Amino acid sequence: MNNWKIETNAVQAGWEPANGETRVMPICQSTTYRYDTAQAVADLFDLKAAGHMYSRISNPTVDVFEKKMAALEGGVAALATASGQTASMISVANICTAGDHFLAVSALYGGTVALFTNTMKKMGIEVTLVDPEAPLSELRKAVRPNTRCIFGETIANPGMDVLDFEKFAALAEEVGMPFIVDNTFATPYLCRPLEHGAHIVTHSATKYIDGHATSVGGVIVDGGNFNWKNGRYPEMTEPDESYHGLIYTETFGAAAYAVKARVQWIRDTGAYLSPMNAWLSNLGLETLHVRMDRHCENAQKMAEFLESHEKVAWVKYPGLPSHKHHERAKKYLSGCSGVLTFGVKGGAAEGERVMDALKLAAIVVHVADVRTSVLHPASMTHRQLSEEELRAAGVTPDLIRLSVGIENIDDIIADFDQALAKV
Ligand SMILES: *Cc1c(COP(=O)(O)O)cnc(C)c1O
Repeated sequence: MNNWKIETNAVQAGWEPANGETRVMPICQSTTYRYDTAQAVADLFDLKAAGHMYSRISNPTVDVFEKKMAALEGGVAALATASGQTASMISVANICTAGDHFLAVSALYGGTVALFTNTMKKMGIEVTLVDPEAPLSELRKAVRPNTRCIFGETIANPGMDVLDFEKFAALAEEVGMPFIVDNTFATPYLCRPLEHGAHIVTHSATKYIDGHATSVGGVIVDGGNFNWKNGRYPEMTEPDESYHGLIYTETFGAAAYAVKARVQWIRDTGAYLSPMNAWLSNLGLETLHVRMDRHCENAQKMAEFLESHEKVAWVKYPGLPSHKHHERAKKYLSGCSGVLTFGVKGGAAEGERVMDALKLAAIVVHVADVRTSVLHPASMTHRQLSEEELRAAGVTPDLIRLSVGIENIDDIIADFDQALAKV
């Protein structure tokens, strides 16, 4: 690993072309790989040798993207997945089996809440959603003997709560369980959770990593900084019969978690990132720092404009002094990202009229790409949540989520100005 700064890694990490090779990483659009001997392939199957055998499990293009993500987050290894949802699921399922329990903060992306409370429950893995602002003494009470990890989100989509890293890292340390953080909205450019006590970082690469709304993808980064040998993770430390008794912590050391996720979960589900999407996500990463600076700058100006507008009831953006986590944002983030939420006076119906009147900003089920867009979570992304879950996730009926793009800020403001004039 080099000691380049993050901007340099965003551009250059991962692909290291040898003499005469393509300057840009190629798209290895191949399902399979040729070997000279049957023994060479058998060794791959037994994980005795490193190499690609089948693109359901690994692929050279995806591998480059994974290496870049590991470098950006400061982890030891990364695993790319078919979507952010897959990353969230595998990050937990990799260390929880039926009968186990885990904690997650309630201020989470709606899809994650649905996954954790419905689908993972059917797998026999139970979650307790905890109040992210509860004191440590309260949080301790939610821990059970079979609690295996804690999951949080750096900047919650769309509540815009900023995670109290110190508190949850302390709880994780106390219990001896890993702290998993969904870093989608911050990206490693604005926050590196591993530097604040997290052990595993997940992303929906669909958002700022790709950054152009071209491809769905996800990634799990293994910090390599958790002690799996504390007696609570037998799947990591006891023989895996599906690999002839291999022991992950023995054979793969610091990267045991990432390797296990790949050779069990990705092998068995096939929920791997495609080479084309890895290529596009890597291309997106090359401008991550440049885009994020502009997203942050535009979102700050937009938040200030909306907060001072007479027809706007409220605005939530951690970059505003009025935000409840403004100080916490300064502590953990080097920028507040490009997403903000607001409510129009008069409630959801008036808000919908504003959304419909927008011309430059589009109504899309997406967030975090170069084009400015809006969405109404209560009727769209968070539609599956109960009223109580909506409240816990910080979603009120009037909440409009605005993803501020990198267009000229004057044009974005003018668009909202004309739309607000219509209500
Ligand atoms: C979108 C999103 C996800 C889910 O990712 P997909 O790529 O849509 O599967 C997870 N977490 C956060 C914070 C998200 O914004």
